[in-house]
Amino acid sequence: MEAQSAAENWEAFRRTLRDQVTPITWQTWLEALQPDVIEDDVVRLVAPSEFHLRWVNDKYRPVVEHAVSEVFGPRASLQMDARPEPIFDIDDDGEDDVDIITAEQPAATPVPVPGEQLVTKYTFENFVVGPSNRFAHAAAMAIAEQPGGYYNPLFVYGAAGLGKTHLLQAIALHARDLRPGLTAKYVTSEQFFNDFIDGIRSKRMAEFKGHYRTVDMLLLDDVQFLEGKEQILEEFFHTFNALYEAGKQLVFSSDRPPRSLTTLEDRIRSRFEWGLTTDIQPPDIETRLAILRRNATFAPQPVPEPVLEFIAERVVDNIRELEGALTRVTAYAALTHQPIDLDMATDVLQDLDEQKIAAPISTGRILSLTAEAYGVTVTDMEGPSRRQPLARGRQIAMYLCRELTDLSLPKIGALFGGRDHTTALHGINKIRDLMTTDEETFEQVTALLQSLRTSTR
Ligand code: ADP
Ligand code: MG
Repeated sequence: MEAQSAAENWEAFRRTLRDQVTPITWQTWLEALQPDVIEDDVVRLVAPSEFHLRWVNDKYRPVVEHAVSEVFGPRASLQMDARPEPIFDIDDDGEDDVDIITAEQPAATPVPVPGEQLVTKYTFENFVVGPSNRFAHAAAMAIAEQPGGYYNPLFVYGAAGLGKTHLLQAIALHARDLRPGLTAKYVTSEQFFNDFIDGIRSKRMAEFKGHYRTVDMLLLDDVQFLEGKEQILEEFFHTFNALYEAGKQLVFSSDRPPRSLTTLEDRIRSRFEWGLTTDIQPPDIETRLAILRRNATFAPQPVPEPVLEFIAERVVDNIRELEGALTRVTAYAALTHQPIDLDMATDVLQDLDEQKIAAPISTGRILSLTAEAYGVTVTDMEGPSRRQPLARGRQIAMYLCRELTDLSLPKIGALFGGRDHTTALHGINKIRDLMTTDEETFEQVTALLQSLRTSTR
């Protein structure tokens, strides 16, 4: 050992370590460890952040120790620290911005859930048609072109992530394009419900009724949400009748067919079935590939066909996850300035193969795992503190809830100590942006995704 210089030792150490792990583990976690000093057989490594340190300690400590003893001798011991981080980071958790966002929305026009309503990506143009959704798509087109004319109501059902919201919004957009002046109102059932409650509370029911009963087209997303909410069902019944009798178009979506909405009264269930009921099935492989190809055209760099096939073969029953997998690959490539190839994709998406055996991901696990990774408690995540890194961890957990569950923004906000949906939206968008510009965020999200998908707790 005496004969070698310190620099040579470090080089040998890095090579030994790199050979024992996958390239992505190396690049994501171990390459960034900086050598500090060696004295009295203590090898000191510095991680770029507390989070990084905790992760390496948890997952890779044995590998690192092994490399230490291999290169520096069996008596050498390992000490790891984190580079000190600034503790406060003001104005970065969106809570300040809430008022501003809300204030921008004119109070007179009820504004549906942000991020759902104004997503212009949800057009017919961007909707890939295949055998799994052809019928639903055709019916949706017909309705946009001739509201109130053919199928009334249209009832679209299918599992999460298969394009129901996309179709409903596409109908509204297209109908408005074709007939300027037409009022097509898209709203989630949850927002409809909240508007109703607000109406009762502020004794402005006339306003609520006036608003919902005078539109030319009402598109109500996720009506399964209304099950068991007796008061609003009565109101819904009257809204339905008023619009229907006036020849206005009604469109509903649900995760189940009307007959399976078992707690609804017959009079409401049967109205759902008056018009046309159609389902959306999970896409076949060709449709999945076509969706990925389309999304890949928006990627900053080319995505080779084998990579698209790799993803299409593994993500089979949720288009949101299909898109998420592609985003992870393109984000990683952008961060590391590498071209995308199959090896990289396989590495980045390691978790996909194991996904099927893993338990469904609950918000409880998302919160507890993220809290654990940040060394805080779930109560901290729900609490008011905006200290870093807690605030960032909270945003990441919000982002994971959005990616991995089917929860609406208000529900996600509510999970975090009753925060507003605009706070949730801000947090989610923040992480989405950081994923492509900030390496640490990318690492943290990837690590958490992998843990969540592969652990079965
Ligand atoms: P759901 O409301 O059924 O849960 P969404 O409409 O939110 O599903 O769709 C999930 C994601 O998949 C969205 O980003 C949507 O744009 C995309 N998507 C769904 N179906 C298609 C399709 N046929 N073509 C292109 N993108 C689609
Ligand atoms: Mg939806």
